[in-house]
Amino acid sequence: MQEETVQNTYKYALCLVDITKLGTKTFSYLIPDDMKDVIKIGQPATLPFGKGTRKIKGYVVGFSNYLEESIKAKYIDELLDTEPMFTLEYLKMLEWVANYYFSDLPTVLKTALPEKFFQKNLKNYRKPNKELKVLQVEKSKNKNTLTPEQQKIYDDIKKVNAKTSLLYGITGSGKTEIYFKLIEDTIKEGKNVLFLAPEIALVSQLTSRTIKRFGKDIVGIWHSTISEAEKYKVWQKLRNDEIKILLGARSSVFAPVKNLGLIIIDEENDSSYKQTMPSPRYSAIEVAKKLTELNQGAKLILGSATPDIQSYYEAKNSNSLFVLNKRFNNAELPKVKIVDMRMERGFGNNGIFSQYLTDEIHKTVQNKNQVILLINRRGFSSYTQCMECSTVIECPKCAIPLIYHSQTQSHRCHYCNYEIKNLTKCPKCETEGTLENFGTGTQRVEEIAGKLFPDYKIQRLDSDSLTKKNEHFEILEAFSSGDIDILIGTQMIAKGLDNPNVTLVGVINADLSFNLPDFRSSERGFSLLCQVAGRSGRGKNEGKVIFQTFNNSNIFLDKAREQDYESFFENEIEIREAFDYPPFAKIIRIILSSGNNFRAEKSALEITMRLKNWINKQSLSERLIVMGPAACVVEKIKGEFRFNIIVKNKLEEKGHNIILSFLRKIILPNDIKMVVDVDPMDIL
Ligand code: ADP
Ligand code: ZN
Repeated sequence: MQEETVQNTYKYALCLVDITKLGTKTFSYLIPDDMKDVIKIGQPATLPFGKGTRKIKGYVVGFSNYLEESIKAKYIDELLDTEPMFTLEYLKMLEWVANYYFSDLPTVLKTALPEKFFQKNLKNYRKPNKELKVLQVEKSKNKNTLTPEQQKIYDDIKKVNAKTSLLYGITGSGKTEIYFKLIEDTIKEGKNVLFLAPEIALVSQLTSRTIKRFGKDIVGIWHSTISEAEKYKVWQKLRNDEIKILLGARSSVFAPVKNLGLIIIDEENDSSYKQTMPSPRYSAIEVAKKLTELNQGAKLILGSATPDIQSYYEAKNSNSLFVLNKRFNNAELPKVKIVDMRMERGFGNNGIFSQYLTDEIHKTVQNKNQVILLINRRGFSSYTQCMECSTVIECPKCAIPLIYHSQTQSHRCHYCNYEIKNLTKCPKCETEGTLENFGTGTQRVEEIAGKLFPDYKIQRLDSDSLTKKNEHFEILEAFSSGDIDILIGTQMIAKGLDNPNVTLVGVINADLSFNLPDFRSSERGFSLLCQVAGRSGRGKNEGKVIFQTFNNSNIFLDKAREQDYESFFENEIEIREAFDYPPFAKIIRIILSSGNNFRAEKSALEITMRLKNWINKQSLSERLIVMGPAACVVEKIKGEFRFNIIVKNKLEEKGHNIILSFLRKIILPNDIKMVVDVDPMDIL
């Protein structure tokens, strides 16, 4: 890609087009003489294509003087705009994404740019007829002033030189107030802000809070349920520098915010900042870090009540960790009670609501307060636990739960293939016949709650509500105005909700996240429980939290009860170090799949062998550790059998490049698919 933007010395322009049959691709076009002084990277243009008079729309993405002799280039027809729609830095950022995440530029561009960009008639797009409800909020007259604790953190953040800072503040400590102060400063300096939240529901909430503070004229919103026409409108406003604060979810890191001064990523430990499907499998956090490198002086603030282990480790080691450990107004953290469901069973209660939780729900609603019930739904897999000593059966080599396979009557590790056959007694306490398999089955919660509490207003909020444009926002509005007594939801209601009337949070199945066979499961479980607990008691009234569990001796559950992140971190970081998990190694996950189980396994074996040889030849096998192949925990998806190869890279960029260049050379037969996930969020 060329460095200059205006090119009067070049003969050809490289243009990016999107064609139904071919996908997004670049082609070379001749630059007419009268365009040579005005053509710029990022400009939209109409281009002749194929035989006849067909014209398509494309973007100028580069220049050159050379073209293969056999290709006969055509002239660019017309430049559709005098100004570029994106910059060279922007393209460089996308190129980095394509390379680092084992994708390609056209795929990344397609993810980043709204579809409208490739349609012919720029001018004729229709205005969205319904404005988003959240954008109709009005600016409020009052502005909070920071507490002394908040002021101190704010001052410290302003002083630090590091490009990335981590704000670790317990739930309700007022992180958002600090963000607002930093945003205000950035706007005063004439720069713009990108503000990310992990889920659409949270983006809506944060947007309405931001508009109340800064007014709607300078605020824009960007996420996957915003229509293409709306996105296009936002894009235009960004280009004209009308939007000063853009709020969005993961994909908004690709919005072309000009003159970027500050990026804030709230709840930074949330796994939805990483795209897993489809390619590019990018992390918005890593892209944001890249953006701060490309935009002079731009800073990144990561915020969380339960930081990502890696972010915390890095911030601690680079003196860019800032801690707010008191709630605003010194409000108390809610009291957490752990209810042992095995005891409930002993009393003959085989239901999913313990007696204690049932009683507390009644009390809360009768006191005109509100309840949140969390159904932990990452439970597609299963685990085995001893009912005597609560031990969860784990792999001795990988420290993740083993999964029971009834066909072979064996317990297997889905990382390394370790296997124990015919396990009939607990390996720890050696009692016979106490092992029990646990799995899903929590979807009935809403139905059962309806029967248990027929007089209360119960509402469910889950991913289905997100597909309808305003529904999630309406549900949350109804909840905050008190029209709902019990809000039932999955992970997405655990975060961000700031509703002072909620005084009870119940977690139906607190164990589930801890027992997934993944090295991040403790981190996930811990943060989920802390986050959801933080929804309770944010107002005048004291809050209560109930964790229902089948394993009350889980030390991480205990740490979540105390909401003691630092002690959790100390525990977890030791395990990470001992087993070479991040932040002590970076992980590249390779999935080989095929409709034919045998062929999938065979190709996985072959690639593993070749990869190991290649690494051995360079004497790097201690720093580039290849594990597997092993069947994925989710062994079969849509008829495809899946095998995992896990590479632990302790060589940073060099190791990354060695592995990726090896993978780029692989040619696979038609019936085998390969997916490469760099820094995967899970290894299931
Ligand atoms: P966090 O983002 O850390 O969970 P918030 O910023 O949402 O915390 O603050 C929690 C509650 O306390 C909010 O209702 C917020 O309006 C209030 N609050 C926090 N700081 C202040 C302040 N300095 N002045 C007034 N209210 C504040
Ligand atoms: Zn193992």
